[in-house]
Amino acid sequence: SSQQIAGAQLPRYVRVNTLKTTLEDVIDYLKREGFSYHGRAGRMEDLHNFSGKTFVSDLHIPDLLVFPPKKDFHTHFLYQAGHIILQDKASCLPAYLLNPRSGAQVLDACAAPGNKTSHLAAIMHNKGKLFAFDLDAKRLSTMNTLLLRAGVTCQQLANQDFLKVNPDGPEYSKVENILLDPSCSGSGMVCLQGSCSEPQEEAGRLQALAAFQLRCLNHALRFPSLQRLVYSTCSVHTQENEEVVAACLQQNKGYRLVPLLPEWPERGLPPLTQCLRASPAKTLTHGFFVAMLERRGPREQEAD
Ligand code: SAM
Repeated sequence: SSQQIAGAQLPRYVRVNTLKTTLEDVIDYLKREGFSYHGRAGRMEDLHNFSGKTFVSDLHIPDLLVFPPKKDFHTHFLYQAGHIILQDKASCLPAYLLNPRSGAQVLDACAAPGNKTSHLAAIMHNKGKLFAFDLDAKRLSTMNTLLLRAGVTCQQLANQDFLKVNPDGPEYSKVENILLDPSCSGSGMVCLQGSCSEPQEEAGRLQALAAFQLRCLNHALRFPSLQRLVYSTCSVHTQENEEVVAACLQQNKGYRLVPLLPEWPERGLPPLTQCLRASPAKTLTHGFFVAMLERRGPREQEAD
């Protein structure tokens, strides 16, 4: 399929884990290994017009390095030591956009295996509190290992159904930011190995996923001190993306969408153009969707 061809050509993205090192140190380390660094990309084309032992830094996401497709870092020292995280560029958007302040109380509702959690911790400089939930015990234990390797210390993990977490619990009274990256169809994930199974997309499954996603979103908006929430999926289906967000806004008049990154090459489908989409063709990433909701001020008109 065309997605498979595009997938084989996606750049390899490497996020520098600033809890353990710096962008400069990683660049220097790689240069000493014979890589050549071509600076910060200025345009999308700069992300794929090179090959071999060459790399650039990304034009949108800070601390993100870009290598030619298929470059494998799984056995590399920097990966084993937790200095770099192998994470698609689109999946770096949620934490980067939520941008929690150092010292904030933050909640990651569906967190495992935790790449976005460790990204949040890095942005917070490990200061504050990061409540992270996941229903799947096995994925949560993988997450524990990953966070340990990444040097994350501000987290509180719980093997719990997010929908059963009490928003009025005293421990959550100061949660200002929520990252919600719930289970989805995964229809945005492009096949990189050529041995991937065809996605099964019957209507009933999508409908059940969308209903679950909307319940999670509505539940998240009940946390009393919430200011901003980022919702993301790795789905390309409107039903799991724009339609979930539109239904939620309809049911929660106290929240509005925040316009995201004007310079990003792909928008949410109209009228939800404040949101972002990502795809192999337009952003050189897996398929992805991101929305940010913000609580309205107490005196604000509900005009828009
Ligand atoms: N945010 C993660 C990351 O960046 O590594 C990926 C999350 S994955 C898309 C969705 C996760 O939601 C799965 O690990 C799944 O076990 C979890 N999940 C599904 N239903 C849940 C629920 N009701 N409460 C908490 N977690 C749930």
